[in-house]
Amino acid sequence: MDHLPIFLEVRGKRTLLVGDGVMAARKADWLLRTGSDLTIVTPNLGEELLRLAKQFSFTHQSTPLQQHDLRDCVLAFGCAEDDSLNQQLYAFAKKQGVLVNIADQTEHCDFIMPSIVDRAPLTIAISSAGTSPLLVRQLKARFETTIPAAFGQLAEFAGSYRDQIKAEIPDLTQRRRFWENMIDGPVAEYVLANQLDEANSMMTSLLQRATTDAKEPLRGEVYLVGTGPGDPDLLTFKALRLMQRADVVLYDRLIGEGILNLVRRDAERIYVGKKRDDHAVSQLDISNMLVSLASEGKRVLRLKGGDPFIFGRGGEEIETLSAQGVAFQVVPGVTAAAGCASYAGIPLTHRDHAQSCVFVTGHQKDGRLNLNWPALIQPGQTVVIYMGLMAIQAICDGFMQHGATPELEAAIIENGTKAGQRVITGTLATLADKAIKADFKSPALIIIGSVVSLRSKLSWFAQE
Ligand code: SAH
Repeated sequence: MDHLPIFLEVRGKRTLLVGDGVMAARKADWLLRTGSDLTIVTPNLGEELLRLAKQFSFTHQSTPLQQHDLRDCVLAFGCAEDDSLNQQLYAFAKKQGVLVNIADQTEHCDFIMPSIVDRAPLTIAISSAGTSPLLVRQLKARFETTIPAAFGQLAEFAGSYRDQIKAEIPDLTQRRRFWENMIDGPVAEYVLANQLDEANSMMTSLLQRATTDAKEPLRGEVYLVGTGPGDPDLLTFKALRLMQRADVVLYDRLIGEGILNLVRRDAERIYVGKKRDDHAVSQLDISNMLVSLASEGKRVLRLKGGDPFIFGRGGEEIETLSAQGVAFQVVPGVTAAAGCASYAGIPLTHRDHAQSCVFVTGHQKDGRLNLNWPALIQPGQTVVIYMGLMAIQAICDGFMQHGATPELEAAIIENGTKAGQRVITGTLATLADKAIKADFKSPALIIIGSVVSLRSKLSWFAQE
């Protein structure tokens, strides 16, 4: 990030602006609306500033700027058409240690003004650090259309109860739950519909219920959530909603930063990742951790790559929860087979090629593959192998030894759906060699079947 986003309190504080015209008027407007004691230095107030003068009061200084004008100023803005005036302001401001912004001169800006969506007291500030004003304008337009005007009223309503709620629900977690119920529930609906009497009486009963509940221990819950194979855009709405609710998150190696960044900012993060044969935290410890965190009343998010119930050991984790009477929900995710196949342009079934598809694991136990070969070599079938990279040679050999033709198409997909996705296609006879030469790493998925031949026509993902 290039700039520190903050909201500055300027009420009653001195600010100074040099210039007139539209840009000056726009900045002056924000400064005056936020109650700043503004001085505008310009020989003549232009049309726009004169209009502003009808609405707000500010000091107009028509004499040239002096060093002492910047005394006790918190911010200074230069928007003069005559750039020498801006440079003069810049020099004075620097000398005085006042933060200064010269319009359209990033090298002369201690701070930049964001684009603003105003739903006071709710305010959204957007900036691209000067890289793309167009993108900022589009985002602003999107917010303007999707955030109802009454959201400001909702923020104000919540604000009016803040001290009371703080006093009556001293526990932080319980208080957070209270606000979530309020914002997600009928109280907010009434406020947004401008039915404030109903909203207030609903709020009273919600508060009564919350203070009674507060005497009981909080009931925690576990969310077992599949995040898909990597591209954050493949998350489900439900996954995202629960990710935003969690108090604590347990995640492993396959969960990328792009997805973790979507978990509520202040949720505690616990890494329980494991590589092959290197179990950072054992499965049993993870299950016990889920139980004990939930018993503390927390909302525990257990993130799983792909789908939790496909080679994810999700079943084992919730068996323990169920045995201990801990509430849980399971959210499916796009499994690696579906994600990688789509992003590699390989349909897993196709009328001309495959009428069935099987998922197997190529994970070896004691150096041996334990696969039902006769079932795998069936014609008209696609076989997807998870965790098969280490055993790729043995897998291809196994197929051929059990009667599959060495010409059968096969593909391997590394980092499927992610920016660094790589795909190699070949045959049972050539794939292992190619994967070793290209130095393929985990996570990688193998697809075996004649559907792989379709990739030459259907590949679309531009990252490769
Ligand atoms: N529950 C997960 C699978 C976990 S097993 C799911 O439903 O997808 C881990 C294996 O999944 C990896 O060894 C690899 O074979 C596969 N995998 C997961 N993400 C992948 C990705 N982005 N690209 C390729 N393979 C992936």
